[in-house]
Amino acid sequence: MDTLIRCSKCGLAFSQSEASWACNCGGVLDVLHPAEFPLEKIKRRTPTMWRYREAIPIADDSNIVSFNEGFTPISSLRTEKRSVLLKLDFLFPTGSFKDRGSSVLLSRIKELGVRSVVEDSSGNAGASIAAYCAMASVECRIYVAENTSESKLAQIKAFGAELHIVPGTREDASERASDDARTLYYASHCWNPFFLQGTKTVAYEIAEQLEWKTPEVLIVPVGNGTLLLGAYIGFTDLYLAGLSSKIPKIIGVQSENCAPLFHMQRNNQTLSEGPASETVAEGIAVRKPIRAEQILDAVKITGGWFTTTSETDIEEAATYLARRGYLVEPTAAVAMAGFARNKSRLLQEESVVIILTGSGLKDTKNLSKLFTHQ
Ligand SMILES: *Cc1c(COP(=O)(O)O)cnc(C)c1O
Ligand SMILES: [Zn+2]
Repeated sequence: MDTLIRCSKCGLAFSQSEASWACNCGGVLDVLHPAEFPLEKIKRRTPTMWRYREAIPIADDSNIVSFNEGFTPISSLRTEKRSVLLKLDFLFPTGSFKDRGSSVLLSRIKELGVRSVVEDSSGNAGASIAAYCAMASVECRIYVAENTSESKLAQIKAFGAELHIVPGTREDASERASDDARTLYYASHCWNPFFLQGTKTVAYEIAEQLEWKTPEVLIVPVGNGTLLLGAYIGFTDLYLAGLSSKIPKIIGVQSENCAPLFHMQRNNQTLSEGPASETVAEGIAVRKPIRAEQILDAVKITGGWFTTTSETDIEEAATYLARRGYLVEPTAAVAMAGFARNKSRLLQEESVVIILTGSGLKDTKNLSKLFTHQ
């Protein structure tokens, strides 16, 4: 089987050379790629996310856009009663796991010969796409909402992207970008399925770092679900390739103040756009995730669930991690807070991996607020 691009809604297939990022029927596209894992070769390669070369649907090596990122460390943390593993995915060139997706998406963009792109983001995806555009000499326009943290704005500008700060919400920024996407290539981390072909490498790395043993539980923050879906695709690939006998239960953690997926799960699948208020977890403040159904299905298939955390939980988790030397942004601390809240539902013998998604240096303003009283 070759690589296939297919609409998730109507099933229409697209040829590999087509630059579409969505189907005319409104459905999101998926990339289906028969991942292979030649372990002997993989072992000899440099420790980057591209060591799983055969699993990544980019035909020609010369189109790869990469800083040799990935293969982030995994470290063990002893909490009160049990140990958990932390996957340090804030250790990337731009300080968040989004670089996994950007590396593959920009490689795809190079493959298509596209010279300029547009993207919208709550900050980290924009910074990441901007960096990879800088590396690939691709022109880049980024729309962000007005409340985006200053360090992320500075990052986007530093990489030379054309930055537009949109009054209003994250959704308003998306609208502006999708207008532009009628004429410019939409390098959207949410719509573009090649982004997930990068985020999936987190699963391969975790498995290899645990000597091809799959953990029982994976805990991730979830907004648009690019990490959650990537992890699901990645662990499914390993399962289908016979490298693992199970797929971990995936626990998706949202902020109580903006938890559409959590509510959808409880209300049987209708995306009820419930009230959303501000959250310190700005990276997951997504009211209408485009791939909501896919995210719900993935979590259900793995036997996992969604959970929420309060603002206080998030602050406590950020402090807890920082006091042990892990400086992550509040959005990333959400996963740790989700673990704390769900501990009693996890068996003692289950191995738990928590993905830490973004660097604390991304949002020093919120961090210093957190620590002024101490
Ligand atoms: C983007 C982001 C997330 C959430 O990822 P989604 O793909 O939107 O679910 C979590 N943490 C950080 C630091 C992020 O930048
Ligand atoms: Zn379709």
